[in-house]
Order: sequence, then structure tokens, then C-alpha cells
Amino acid sequence: MIMESRIAHGLEGTLQRVRRACEQAGRPTSGVTLVAVSKTQPAQAVRVAYAAGQRHFGENYVQEGLAKIEALGDLRDHLVWHLIGPLQSNKTREVAEHFDWVHSVDRLKIAQRLSDQRPAGLPPLQLCLQVNISEEASKSGVVPSQALALAQAVASLPRVRLRGLMAIPEPAHDEAARRAPHRALHALMASINAALQGGPHPPLDALSMGMSADLEAAIAEGATMVRVGTAIFGERPAPQHQA
Ligand SMILES: *Cc1c(COP(=O)(O)O)cnc(C)c1O
Repeated sequence: MIMESRIAHGLEGTLQRVRRACEQAGRPTSGVTLVAVSKTQPAQAVRVAYAAGQRHFGENYVQEGLAKIEALGDLRDHLVWHLIGPLQSNKTREVAEHFDWVHSVDRLKIAQRLSDQRPAGLPPLQLCLQVNISEEASKSGVVPSQALALAQAVASLPRVRLRGLMAIPEPAHDEAARRAPHRALHALMASINAALQGGPHPPLDALSMGMSADLEAAIAEGATMVRVGTAIFGERPAPQHQA
């Protein structure tokens, strides 16, 4: 019962933050999807969040995510599973078979494998390109100057659908510094859409940005998906690296 009330409370508080940020930005609440980041949380925590109304869940580690998707197989048709963590090419098949979205595509080879391996009976896998928007040496993601070329290549793959861009900006202490990278990601998507215009691919419509600490800044700059873990589920134990 303690877990139930903590998660319901975290979820409600987060949805309130999303609603308030949308109001302040003059945007409809329906334009922002909350992806509850359930990494390191037990399957039961996802079940509890589902019972409280949550439908989209994000996982960082492939094996952990697959185990949870399987444990929650009875809810499969009601849940939308997002892979938001790094993806190695030897794990693409299981991801293509079991997830709905991948936010962390940063090279063509991964997208190609996901397209080749997406089962014919499923809708196209929804993809975002992860962009290293602050150009930090330590971060994964395509650098902004290469994003258009990657987007054009991924857009032509048959079994995936390129939806947008994702970023994990550096933590920042003031509002202006928090908003700048989100604004840059939005501008990058606009420039990619300008280049795709007139071609067969529909415009990108997904901006996956904003986490527990900066979801307001991200929504102010146009986020359509915020990925929130701590504010919903509480502090995580130390990360387990098992991608
Ligand atoms: C862990 C994680 C999140 C959620 O972070 P919180 O600060 O717990 O909200 C979002 N996106 C990615 C890629 C993550 O790894």
C-alpha cells in the first residue's frame, strides 16, 4: 500500500507540473505525453502506475526492459514501451520485436537493423534520433551537424517511422541555461522538417526532452514527450549497467 500511494502521488504531482507548464506555455496538455521512466523499478511498480492511469513507460536497459515487458504481458495491449537508453547492434532484434518506440537511435546501422528486424505483423517501430545537443564529449547521440543526413537516411527505411529528436541536456542551474538546449533541439527539428518538405516523409512531430529536473523548461520550448523517473517513482538505487 505504501508503494501504491507513493507512486499515485508522484504521478499526480508530475501530471500537475506538466499541466501547469503547458498552461504557462499556452499549449494544450494533450500535446505532451508523459513517459514514466521505470528503469530499476520492479514490474509491480509499473503495474501500480498503470492502475493509476499511466500508459507510456520508458526503460534504459534492454534486458531489464524485456523482462518487465514479459512480466507484464497481460497488459501488453494497453502499454506503450519506449527504449530510451543506449542500444548496441547485438540487441536490436529483441528491441524490434518487443518495444513500441526507440528514442536513442544515433547511427544508421542501428536503425537499419531495427527496420530489417521489425516483425511484419506489428506497426512500424517509432524512432527518435538522439542528438548530442550540448556537444559534450562524453555523451552519446549524433552531433547536430550530422543530424539531417542521418534523418534523411532513416526516413527512407520501410519498417520504422522516424518521429523526431531526443536529447539529454547537461543539468543547468538557471532557467535560461536550462531552456537553451531544448530550444536548440526544437530548431534542429524545424530545419530537418524544412529539408524533408516536399518529399514523401511526413514531418517530424516528436521532441523527446525534459526529465524530473527540467520538464518545465522543455515544455516551454516545445517538448512533446517528457521522460520522468525520479519525480514519479522516487530516488533510484545506483544504476545497473547491463544494456
Ligand atoms: C533516467 C532517465 C530519465 C529520467 O530521469 P529522472 O531524472 O529520474 O526523471 C530520462 N531520460 C533518460 C534517457 C534517462 O536515462
